[in-house]
Amino acid sequence: MPRIAYVNGRYVAHGAASVHVEDRGYQLADGVYEVCAVSDGRLLDERRHMERLGRSLGELRIRWPMTPAALGVVLREMVRRNRFSEGLVYLQVTRGVAPRDHAFPAPAVAPGLVVTARAMPVEPRDRRAGEGVAVITIPDNRWARVDIKSISLLPNVLAKQAAREAGAFEAWFVDGKGFVTEGASTNAWIVTAKGAIVTRPADHGILRGITRSILVDLAGRDRLRLEERPFSVKEAISAREAFLTSATAAVTPIVKIDGHAVGNGRPGPFATGLRKAIAAVFERSGIHSTPAADPKL
Ligand code: PLP
Repeated sequence: MPRIAYVNGRYVAHGAASVHVEDRGYQLADGVYEVCAVSDGRLLDERRHMERLGRSLGELRIRWPMTPAALGVVLREMVRRNRFSEGLVYLQVTRGVAPRDHAFPAPAVAPGLVVTARAMPVEPRDRRAGEGVAVITIPDNRWARVDIKSISLLPNVLAKQAAREAGAFEAWFVDGKGFVTEGASTNAWIVTAKGAIVTRPADHGILRGITRSILVDLAGRDRLRLEERPFSVKEAISAREAFLTSATAAVTPIVKIDGHAVGNGRPGPFATGLRKAIAAVFERSGIHSTPAADPKL
């Protein structure tokens, strides 16, 4: 089955898809992105992804390449054309093509839009969650606006590679005070001895993950004790449980931090239960299919 990509208005064969050499995303990482999980052929929480995209674009003063509703049509068309039901859609918006110069092009040029999609079978992800994963910790050496979902990801790339080389699934960034910020591509959580679930507040120091937001809502609905506060590596190692969240990993239990077992070294009931609960939220609420609203461009 040939893969299809979307590039600046056209659906093209994935292998032949390309952008201009002076696309500012390519030369300056001047762009933003979103990764939206696809489950049962439907985009998970399109509305929140569009809202976050709008925020990232606004912070960088990049225009929408098209309305959120039109973009939603492209994303869904990509799922259809690539004929898969479980996987992800990736979209990237750059400031556009212009002769290389750090300052914005003047006059402004049309933003660039690329969308790719790919199947990702559920079983390996479920198996991984069933076993739990290991994380390592490394100093957070990123810029001060990681709340913007920018395509400039070099520290995240190096962090993830360090994790791979250490035989771990994820690297947790740690700030100058010893507090965990988040993972290279996931948000970080622990469960305290008293059963509170703890995650860092979504200020400028982390990306406000969509899965994180869903879990925060879920905690409110199910009256779980939620504490949005920083936690240290030491606290995490001695926590009852730890887990990570992202669109494609959903809730994945962490069983080892820097080689130390968390809890009894096996996925715990909180993380496992929250993974199930989040799947049920998607099933019940039709959150998948909520299309983006168009105002606020
Ligand atoms: N934090 C970072 C740095 C990320 O890159 C990601 C996802 O790519 C997340 C957190 C999780 O966000 P989401 O739940 O929207 O996938």
